[in-house]
Amino acid sequence: MSANAAPTEGWGLIRPGDRKAHYYRDTFSLCRRVGFYRGELEPDMSPGPDDCAACRKALTREAAKASQT
Ligand SMILES: [Zn+2]
Repeated sequence: MSANAAPTEGWGLIRPGDRKAHYYRDTFSLCRRVGFYRGELEPDMSPGPDDCAACRKALTREAAKASQT
């Protein structure tokens, strides 16, 4: 067991060819457009202008669902 395991989800970095930053969970983006991302993840949830709209929407939907119960 590693004490400093890397986070498994968070906002990824914008790579060459990417126009937006995607939110990755277990190397796949929430919008399903990008997979096998193994770069750095930023757990910060603060919205930014470079966020992928589909990933942001999926996150918002999950948060709404979680607070409904
Ligand atoms: Zn996305």
